[in-house]
Order: sequence, then structure tokens, then C-alpha cells
Amino acid sequence: MNLKPVSYVLRIGHRPERDQRVTTHVGLSSRALGASGMYLAADDQKVSDSICDVAQRFGGDYFCENNVKWKSFIRKFKADGGKVVHLTMYGLRLQDAIPDIRKEEKVLVVVGAEKVPGEMYELADYNVAVANQPHSEISALALFLDHLYEGRELELSFDNPDIEVIPTKVGKTTIKHGQPHE
Ligand code: SAM
Repeated sequence: MNLKPVSYVLRIGHRPERDQRVTTHVGLSSRALGASGMYLAADDQKVSDSICDVAQRFGGDYFCENNVKWKSFIRKFKADGGKVVHLTMYGLRLQDAIPDIRKEEKVLVVVGAEKVPGEMYELADYNVAVANQPHSEISALALFLDHLYEGRELELSFDNPDIEVIPTKVGKTTIKHGQPHE
């Protein structure tokens, strides 16, 4: 199934000493919910590798690119025809903005960690709030993607997994395909 618009995540403000777990979950949540890859605007190969490792074992083409220069990357993404959605509690209401965003071809969803630089609000095509209340980049991203794809992302299948989870009423059932990665 091809979800439209194609979405990517840009993680800014990542601090290796304290954000590794949350940034990893930003990547894994966005992968599970239909995004195609994550760009990390920090040099943290460990986080990037751990997301890639899960993506490889559970299938699909999700990628994580380390050490992206966020301002020049955003400018290039826009010059190539993409639109930039910055998730912020100060933005327009998700439910008001989402109909226009769904019409775009490809979107870059930007989430922060520490205080987001003021420039980000100007660079964004859409500043969007998932409720105008403070919470988390993981919950904001998950709800944004679910509204963007209207639940269709839950029907996604992931190609060539090493491990596949079989939905089970009680307990855990998995199928192991092929050889595990080294
Ligand atoms: N205090 C920071 C600031 O003022 O920029 C934000 C910190 S918050 C823990 C980290 C990220 O979560 C934000 O940069 C934003 O991407 C996301 N976030 C938090 N609440 C949000 C909301 N209500 N709507 C959309 N995104 C939100």
C-alpha cells in the first residue's frame, strides 16, 4: 500500500546525552505509522544505527540519516517541491490544517526536543499543534501521522522482514524468516 502524501521526519535539537531514547522512539513510531525515513539533525550514529537495526529486522525500507544540517536540508526539501510541517503546541489546530496538508505530495514533519529556534517557525509551511497544550514529540507525531493517513497506516505491511509478529489474543507469536542479521 502506498500512503499519500509521502512523509519524512526531521528531528532537531537532539542532545545525545539525554534524548537518545526519545529520538529512537520518534524514529520507530514514525516508521510503524507510515513515514518513509528520519533525518537526524545531530551526530548520533548510535541512535541512527539502532533505528536501522529494528527497521532491517522488521522489514520495509525505512531509513535514518545521521548528522543532517537542518536549515540547508529544509531549504533543499522545499526547493525540491516538498512542504514542511513543524509540530508545535503554538501552531494552528491539527484538525483545521490537516485537509490542506493531505493534498501535498511529500511532507517533512519537524519535531523538536529542547527549545526550538525561532527560525523554524518561519521556515515551516505549516506550524501545526496537536492540541495547543504541551506534551511530547512522540505523541504529537503519532497523532499527526494517524490524522494524515486517516488510519490507513495501520493496514501497512513491511516487506522482507526477518521477524514477523502474528496478532495473538494471548501471548506472543512470531515467525522468523531467513537468517538473522549479524
Ligand atoms: N519547550 C520546547 C519549545 O518551546 O520549543 C518544546 C519541547 S517539547 C517536549 C518537544 C517537541 O514536542 C516540540 O518541539 C514539538 O515538536 C512537540 N510537541 C510538544 N507538544 C506539542 C503539541 N501540543 N503539538 C505539536 N507538537 C508538540
